[in-house]
Amino acid sequence: MLAAFPDHLSAYAKSYLENIGVEVRTGKRVIDIRADGAHIEGAFVPAGLIMWGAGVKASPAHSWLGIPGVAGGRIPVDDCLRVIGFDGIYAIGDTSALAGSDGKVLPGLAQVAKQQGTYLGKTLRTGRAVAGFQFKNRGNTAVIGRNAAVFDFGKWTLKGRVAWLLWALVHVYLLINFEKRLLVAIQWAGRYLTRQRGARIIDETAERPEHKDQPIATDSAAVRR
Ligand SMILES: Cc1cc2nc3c(=O)[nH]c(=O)nc-3n(C[C@H](O)[C@H](O)[C@H](O)COP(=O)(O)OP(=O)(O)OC[C@H]3O[C@@H](n4cnc5c(N)ncnc54)[C@H](O)[C@@H]3O)c2cc1C
Repeated sequence: MLAAFPDHLSAYAKSYLENIGVEVRTGKRVIDIRADGAHIEGAFVPAGLIMWGAGVKASPAHSWLGIPGVAGGRIPVDDCLRVIGFDGIYAIGDTSALAGSDGKVLPGLAQVAKQQGTYLGKTLRTGRAVAGFQFKNRGNTAVIGRNAAVFDFGKWTLKGRVAWLLWALVHVYLLINFEKRLLVAIQWAGRYLTRQRGARIIDETAERPEHKDQPIATDSAAVRR
């Protein structure tokens, strides 16, 4: 769990989830998902509701260029963010693959995309590549639950309620303007105090006219394929 974080933060996340009744199973791949459960290597887990949370992948932009994607379909770029093998084409953010100082491809995170955007903006404005792009890790964070989050700043780490508060502050601060910061802060404070959850409904029938007559889920927990 939270493989990008130090071991003690992964262990904290696991124990937090176990304390609220989640049975955590790791180290096994899901082979198949059916309406009545999931096949996990060596076992079948019966289930009435299955939520699949893995599988974020890059855009298919590499196929537009006719090149193979790397690291989950991302476009390989050099340290000036130029697509390798093409003149005048750049790729940044989640769709690009650039190795960091540790040799691993930089993660698909907002801070990578933002720093690359700033770097490329300067490069294009001046018409020449300044020194190659270097990612500065300003810390990684993940929220686990109510009053529980983790922070990894490299030299020091945080977990628990203080980390959760910092996580919330950072996310509100990074929003684009004062209005959005205020709105989200009020909404989050309201949800925290009332323990209500926001509704997130995925309903593909809206895009499938042949299923228009089917009822649209309004339950806040409904996710329908
Ligand atoms: C659920 C979730 C939670 C996340 N949480 C965090 C987090 O807590 N912290 C963090 O740092 N990062 C987080 N990320 C990752 C972060 O959102 C991405 O790394 C970041 O948004 C990448 O920025 P980007 O500009 O490369 O891509 P995006 O932000 O995805 O922007 C790409 C844009 O291109 C548009 N687009 C796509 N295809 C086309 C097309 N064919 N034509 C025109 N436009 C197109 C899309 O609509 C989108 O607006 C999260 C991602 C997800 C999915």
